[in-house]
Amino acid sequence: MTINDRFAPEAGTAPPALGPAELPVWPQYDDGERTALIRALEQGQWWRAGGSEVTSFEREFAAYNGAPYALAVNSGTDALELALRVHGIGPGDEVIVPAFTFISTSLAVQNTGAVPVPADVDPGHQCLTAETARKAATERTRAILPVHMAGHVTDMAALREVADEYGAVVIQDAAHAQGATRDGVLVGADPSIACYSFQNGKLMTAGEGGALTFPDRESYDHAYLLHAVGRPPEDTSYQHVTGGMNARMNEFSGAVLRTQLGRLAGQTVTRGERAALLDELLAPVEGLRTQTRDPRITVNPHYMYLLTLDADRFDRQARDRLVELLKERGVPACVNFPPVYRTAGFWAGATESVTADELGARCPEAELIGGRGLWLHHRILLAEPETVRRVAAVVAAAVDEAGR
Ligand SMILES: *Cc1c(COP(=O)(O)O)cnc(C)c1O
Repeated sequence: MTINDRFAPEAGTAPPALGPAELPVWPQYDDGERTALIRALEQGQWWRAGGSEVTSFEREFAAYNGAPYALAVNSGTDALELALRVHGIGPGDEVIVPAFTFISTSLAVQNTGAVPVPADVDPGHQCLTAETARKAATERTRAILPVHMAGHVTDMAALREVADEYGAVVIQDAAHAQGATRDGVLVGADPSIACYSFQNGKLMTAGEGGALTFPDRESYDHAYLLHAVGRPPEDTSYQHVTGGMNARMNEFSGAVLRTQLGRLAGQTVTRGERAALLDELLAPVEGLRTQTRDPRITVNPHYMYLLTLDADRFDRQARDRLVELLKERGVPACVNFPPVYRTAGFWAGATESVTADELGARCPEAELIGGRGLWLHHRILLAEPETVRRVAAVVAAAVDEAGR
């Protein structure tokens, strides 16, 4: 009998799969979104210049994240690019990014013409650290772009020290971290620009969308111009005072996001409780580790629930098999992000003159969690405790089976 068998007391009996209706759906909506959409529709003007939804959302979102200013945009990827452009980053510059992240973190850097320099992540919390960032820093480093992985806020003070040594700035990829805090400080209250995503799977969503929060008026004003083809807010005479892109959010998205924001605090509490339960239930499963929890992370909104298989016992095929088994048994799961430099897209933009294997040698942890890691969808963390127990039983049995 292995430890994992304690979830399946009758030897050889697999725990029952979850039915399609047993887990909460994502995204969620109710009459709040319905009313909001009609409200935007009936304004008669559907872009931000003609309505009040996007502007109201920005005010509410800034307050929720502890920031003085917020700008809503049409994606998290564009939010990151805008933040980089506000700092004047472009060709010839280097930006340190975590090797383990969704591709947008490095892609946004490349979209400015700058070079993303992947650095390794911590094996426990799976974010950048001051040590890994320092190793990747050069005299061309203009920014460090940490990701608050799955809602775990990076140690910003430590990264800022490294950035200061190199005359660089820090920009936060907070796509997973709406309303997250470290030592009680909200991500938007940090003295850096933070970038958020409202894509369909994120913790609040309008299908697509993004936002930035700013510590000061000047960077907000600059980002506003850049996101609106260089036009100031009240412009009616085609003043294009800077270059830029059109990354404006539309009024329907703004209206939906105001309602979604209203649900976030309550859901964050529920997910926190369920994640703690799942951590406890999965702790005895041999060969499996979960993202570590740091007591300095005072609010973790819990985006992905991250799991890593032990490389001594499981190969990449076993990981892939585990994800398939989980999906078959009604547990929404997905393989981890590959290290950014293991994608063709990464090599389509500006890079250092290195090979993927050279970068892999620099980033052993990203290699490991890219090939042995997986994540469970956060909708599991909105289920009743009894359902979370059943998910844990399915995971434990499937880990056992995938390793055979
Ligand atoms: C989702 C995501 C983004 C990009 O967001 P989009 O809104 O899909 O463009 C950026 N960074 C990370 C870490 C993400 O997970």
